[in-house]
Amino acid sequence: MAAGPQAQQELERLRLELGERESEIALLLDTARLIGSELDLDRVFEAIAARARVLIKAETVLVPLLTADHRAYTYRAGAGGNADEIVGQTLPIEVGLCGWVLRHQRPWWLGALDELNAEERNLWEHEAGAVLLVPLVGRHSFLGGLAGINKQGGGNFTRRDLNLLQLFAAQAAIAIENAMAMEKVEQARREAENHQLELHRLNKRLNAANRQLEQMSLFDPLTGLPNRSLFRDRVQHEIEASKATAAPLAILLIDLDKFQDVNNDYGQETGDALLKAIAAQLSGLLKPGSTLSRVSGDEFAVLLCAADTDEALALAQAMNAQLAAGISVRKERIAVSASIGIAAYPVHGSNLSTLMKNADLAMSGTKRDRAGVHVFDPARDAATEGRYALIQHLREALDREEFTLFYQPKLDLASGRITGCEALARWLHPQRGMVPPDMFISALEQTGLILPFTRWAIDTALRQRQAWRKRGWNLDMAVNVPPGVLMNPEFMAFLDAHETLDGVTLEITENVFLGDLERLAAVVASIRARYVSLSIDDFGTGYSSLQRLRQTAVSEIKIDRSFVKDMLDNKDDAVIVHSTIELAHNLGLRVIGEGVENEATLARLSSLGCDSVQGYHICRPLPPPVLEEFLGRSAWPPRLIATTRAQA
Ligand code: C2E
Ligand code: CA
Ligand code: CA
Repeated sequence: MAAGPQAQQELERLRLELGERESEIALLLDTARLIGSELDLDRVFEAIAARARVLIKAETVLVPLLTADHRAYTYRAGAGGNADEIVGQTLPIEVGLCGWVLRHQRPWWLGALDELNAEERNLWEHEAGAVLLVPLVGRHSFLGGLAGINKQGGGNFTRRDLNLLQLFAAQAAIAIENAMAMEKVEQARREAENHQLELHRLNKRLNAANRQLEQMSLFDPLTGLPNRSLFRDRVQHEIEASKATAAPLAILLIDLDKFQDVNNDYGQETGDALLKAIAAQLSGLLKPGSTLSRVSGDEFAVLLCAADTDEALALAQAMNAQLAAGISVRKERIAVSASIGIAAYPVHGSNLSTLMKNADLAMSGTKRDRAGVHVFDPARDAATEGRYALIQHLREALDREEFTLFYQPKLDLASGRITGCEALARWLHPQRGMVPPDMFISALEQTGLILPFTRWAIDTALRQRQAWRKRGWNLDMAVNVPPGVLMNPEFMAFLDAHETLDGVTLEITENVFLGDLERLAAVVASIRARYVSLSIDDFGTGYSSLQRLRQTAVSEIKIDRSFVKDMLDNKDDAVIVHSTIELAHNLGLRVIGEGVENEATLARLSSLGCDSVQGYHICRPLPPPVLEEFLGRSAWPPRLIATTRAQA
């Protein structure tokens, strides 16, 4: 049975519709596949607009998206006529058809533009005839809408257009959300990358700063020369190289003599300038490939490669000649002398520490002999080695507080009371036991450790004086201070850091008069201004004249025990003691006799008018607890605080 024309028509219509549906499904699937795999947000929007336009056959499709605060919308993308003009615009949510859809979160279809008042219509809505608008709703949030404007070929959008667009919008929203999430990930990645870059930049700067620090810790800031650690490193390196080439090398240690005097006489700044000038002068004498280093305050060192002791000796002599000729600094011409020690690889040592030690021993030998320069000589320098170890020990002893002070009373002859003490240092050596000061004071002086040591001694003695004051005993405190310390500006600063130094006496030897007398007078005056008394120790053994005593405001002289000891039997000594007391009194100075070992000497000194005495006959130097016991039962009671005023 053949189908009627009506049926034929119906069949044709269905076939057409099927084709349409199939192409719609294909388009949807294709779009879903495209935007589902596309993670670039711009391209996702482009694809959405273009596909939607094909799907509903609109002249124009626009994609309005809500802003983050949901108070406005932006045309994020578009396809078709006029789209370019509109994309990018942002409008308040109260405005336009899009605003209406976004506010109500439901589609607009067949709604007449007339439902909006005139102010609400933006440009394209005025001109638009048919409008289809559906919301874009994602899984997580409301995103915005999809708008079709004007059906291609005229007429209105159909219900199927609405359904298709809604189906499409659901897929599109998911694609948009995915891409947005991806963009966030991407942004985080970019930020991380920026951080990484910034980190890299910071790291570079840090490395540069570290290098600078390293530079600073490898080079002496004053002269710019390699410092001790860099010098040692280079020597080590050169020894390794020499092992391969069998070429000798030499080390010169150059110690400037009495450089402290330059600082004292000309001031620290000139001292620094002189060091710089010396560094420059000495550098000029070196052959290429050598290293000049400033290894400590007034000590330089040279690493001379491929050189034997003869060449090193010639260089040392040239250096000494240069220094002796004088160096111009700040309008002054200052001549200095240096003591140089030489040790060579491999004859004087096969490793760094032995070479350095032997150069140092040679230098100490030079200093002792005032020879200018010595090449290391095991026979001569062996004795020095013991000293070397001692110096090392002293440094440690100071750190470990192995020193202690004993105190020896001073008896005031007028009152018959003990009015003060002298602090005398002892070294409680962990192995050797009690070491007397003669064994270590001069070593401390030669190493520069004497300044910290003296500071320690004064602080300790002051604490002891304070402790005894608490017991009611008013005992003055005398501390021994070598000339080098006395004249050191740092020592004055140390004194200034103390609130009160009253009752303190500094015992200084006559050697102080060997230096610059004007400077000495100034130093003594400023010490006196701090209510500190000065006593000339070991008086009579050194070089001091009455004239000099008069010029410097010392308050006391201490007659050396060598005169006191023999004054009863030796007429000369008796005369010296007698006249010293008279002359000192004429100058208004107090006199103390030290080394009083018996009653007869005490009686004689008393009859000669000596003010005080000190010696084994009265009391030996004792540690505080033992001395306190002595003071408690002595025939010569300690001066009491309450009686001070009455005595004064
Ligand atoms: P000095 O300043 O002349 O100290 C007096 C020395 O004579 C002390 O020796 C003391 O124990 C000793 N002595 C005291 N009474 C008598 C006596 O009746 N007969 C004899 N034969 N000797 C007596 P010490 O304690 O061995 O000190 C020796 C030197 O070491 C001191 O001579 C002083 O120059 C130095 N010295 C001690 N302690 C210090 C200190 O803390 N700093 C400094 N720079 N030097 C110190
Ligand atoms: Ca003394
Ligand atoms: Ca003395």
